[in-house]
Amino acid sequence: MINVTKTFLPPFEEYAAILKRAWDKAWITNNGELVQELESMLKEYLAVDQLLYTSNGTVVLQIALKALNITKEVITTPFSYVATTNALLWEKCSPVFVDIDPGNFCIDADKIEAAITENTQAILATHVYGLPCNVEKIGEISLKHNLKVIYDGAHAFGCIYKGKSLLSYGDISTCSFHATKLFHTVEGGCLISHYKEMNDQLFLYRSFGHLVDDYYCVGINAKNSEFHAAMGLALLPYINSIIEERKELVSVYDSYLSGHVQLPVRTIKDFTYNHSYYPIVVQSEDVLLKLKISLEAKGVNVRRYFYPSLNTLPFLPAGSNSCPISEDISKRVLCLPLYPSLKTSEVKMIAEHILSLI
Ligand SMILES: *Cc1c(COP(=O)(O)O)cnc(C)c1O
Repeated sequence: MINVTKTFLPPFEEYAAILKRAWDKAWITNNGELVQELESMLKEYLAVDQLLYTSNGTVVLQIALKALNITKEVITTPFSYVATTNALLWEKCSPVFVDIDPGNFCIDADKIEAAITENTQAILATHVYGLPCNVEKIGEISLKHNLKVIYDGAHAFGCIYKGKSLLSYGDISTCSFHATKLFHTVEGGCLISHYKEMNDQLFLYRSFGHLVDDYYCVGINAKNSEFHAAMGLALLPYINSIIEERKELVSVYDSYLSGHVQLPVRTIKDFTYNHSYYPIVVQSEDVLLKLKISLEAKGVNVRRYFYPSLNTLPFLPAGSNSCPISEDISKRVLCLPLYPSLKTSEVKMIAEHILSLI
């Protein structure tokens, strides 16, 4: 069975040797040594000043909204994983969906201003598949209209835009380190901000809002454990070669499929991509469903990332805006298997099979 992704695991002995440091001290959670070490390694790798390691990539969106005092309308993308919208709804914010750019499937920055009302407080956008949102334009709009910007960077680990990590844009950027993501710690995530004051506030929110006997604010539990941090520390030395191997496989897929299926635009000036996903867009939903069933019969699991378009979720308040481009793309997009131990021959088999069916 070939799945859409296969979690990369470091050699067990390397994981165990790191974990043993926490084990021997019997200090296994609550801002332990390995968590702090992972945070400094990640700050170095991403070249950011303020980063907090957390339990996942969803609670960080909720914390970001809380820290920026967002309670009303938030302009957001309909083309992302459901966690992006869920975080807004969970925090009782009102999502206002703005359609996507048909080129790279991120929110179309040229359509944002028309959606701003007197209740708009923020923009929550996803660098979908690790492709960059129009961060310049979104930055300009946010200054002009006094809006906060949060980027859901769950797919953007290792992407570099204009000499900086893509995770260093916006007031707050988040990432997910879930086992299905490019860099993972089994479960996990992080919060990236720009000032020590904000980082201190986020630190409090991450652990119940108190430091020992001093209680400052309402908080939640978004801490992560030494077991999880150990996975990150063991995996980080491999991340550049993981990205390289993915890049090779992507070029094999491209050599078969480009020109035959629609691919998102990945060549962007001043941008280094992480090759975290390989989405293709086919002619119609019918073709997609046929393709999916036929690939599954050959033991290949593909996934409908991202479907449905989030503005059509059944639990949204009535009257959510329509987003024709996102609704169309999400019905026709499929992510193909992509992970370091995938063989070139398997990529060829999958690509040839697709070509024979479309
Ligand atoms: C995976 C993902 C999340 C959620 O991350 P978890 O760590 O699983 O909570 C949020 N946003 C996007 C875009 C994702 O792909």
